[in-house]
Amino acid sequence: METKKLEALSVPYHVAAVGEEEASAAAEVIRSGWLTTGPRTMEFEKKFAEYVGAKHAVSVASCTAALHLAYDAIHLKAGDEVLVPAVTFTATAETVVYLGATPVIVDVDPLTLNLSVEDAARKITPRTRAIVPVHYAGQPCDMAEIQDLAGKHGLEVIEDAAHSLPASYRGTPVGTISRITCFSFYATKTLAIGEGGMVTTPDDEIAARIRMMRLHGIGRDSWKRYTAEGSWYYEVLDAGFKYNMTDVQSAIGLVQLGKCDALRQMRASIAASYDAGLGGQPWFQIPTNLPDRESGLHLYPLRLHLNTLRIDRAEFIRQLKERGIGTSVHFIPLHLHPFYRDRYGYKPEDLPVATREYERYLSLPFFPSMSQEQVDYVIESAIDIARSNAK
Ligand SMILES: *Cc1c(COP(=O)(O)O)cnc(C)c1O
Repeated sequence: METKKLEALSVPYHVAAVGEEEASAAAEVIRSGWLTTGPRTMEFEKKFAEYVGAKHAVSVASCTAALHLAYDAIHLKAGDEVLVPAVTFTATAETVVYLGATPVIVDVDPLTLNLSVEDAARKITPRTRAIVPVHYAGQPCDMAEIQDLAGKHGLEVIEDAAHSLPASYRGTPVGTISRITCFSFYATKTLAIGEGGMVTTPDDEIAARIRMMRLHGIGRDSWKRYTAEGSWYYEVLDAGFKYNMTDVQSAIGLVQLGKCDALRQMRASIAASYDAGLGGQPWFQIPTNLPDRESGLHLYPLRLHLNTLRIDRAEFIRQLKERGIGTSVHFIPLHLHPFYRDRYGYKPEDLPVATREYERYLSLPFFPSMSQEQVDYVIESAIDIARSNAK
């Protein structure tokens, strides 16, 4: 490929896989006059439950809301501790703080960047109530080991599955493994609505509690109070939240759900190109896919072998940007953020793997509509930058 042609390309970090179908589904809801939670949301919950094979799927405003309601449903309280991985988004841990409990940050496995079960075991105290595996980039955590550890110590397992739809662990779909699983439908996630989330659970009581607390703590089928057939009478049973999902969101979600497998297939083919193009190069470490699990393929995190380069990750990102390529970093580990550092007194060396790996990962553009030309351009640009800055 000629340099000129290469320079003409631009590759954004992300483009959501939404289009006319989603637009007309949303428009149809608006024309129906029904704007908030209603029939489309009931249908989305039903289809989502069927899709992952869960008994209950309860829609909420976001994965952050899902996590908050999950912690509420297990009656997390002040003084309790919750094990969360260092490499995650703040939502996993901030929601623990909402309940007055303490997030205890666990180091990650150097191969997968998922929570290290070994380090989690070391951090269990009599106050530990729950462990929250985050399926980083979409690849499920070691759920057998996590369930085992949780069983031994009587811990709840709440999965942060914001990256892992669709995904499976030893043939079992994520969303059916633990008592509570939380999904995200944020704009960049694999099922993109813009905002939205879902809790799946096999437990009737957990489902009922979350259904109640997502809408002001009002008793059963509270959304029906907005309908013509609904009664004017309702009872507030607890101080709940305003975390319901709207029918406009659900209409988009229903279209996206129908495409979920096809979109994952498209991401799998992009990942295969990245693996083939970048995998043999001395400067890069490509993601490791373990054979007993299927990743949702939400991110493509590339790691730099910094000892082979004269530049750091920030400069690598800058040079990609100069060539029109957008990237991101998932994630700045929790313990390095001022809030967690200052409130809980973490030092970088407390989570040595996360601190070290953070220095060298970046997420490449990774979205279903990427053309082969764009994928090749990213590969060639990354190699070119590394080669020109090799030690
Ligand atoms: C995106 C994300 C969340 C939050 O999802 P929202 O739907 O935006 O609230 C939580 N955890 C992880 C790991 C995420 O990547």
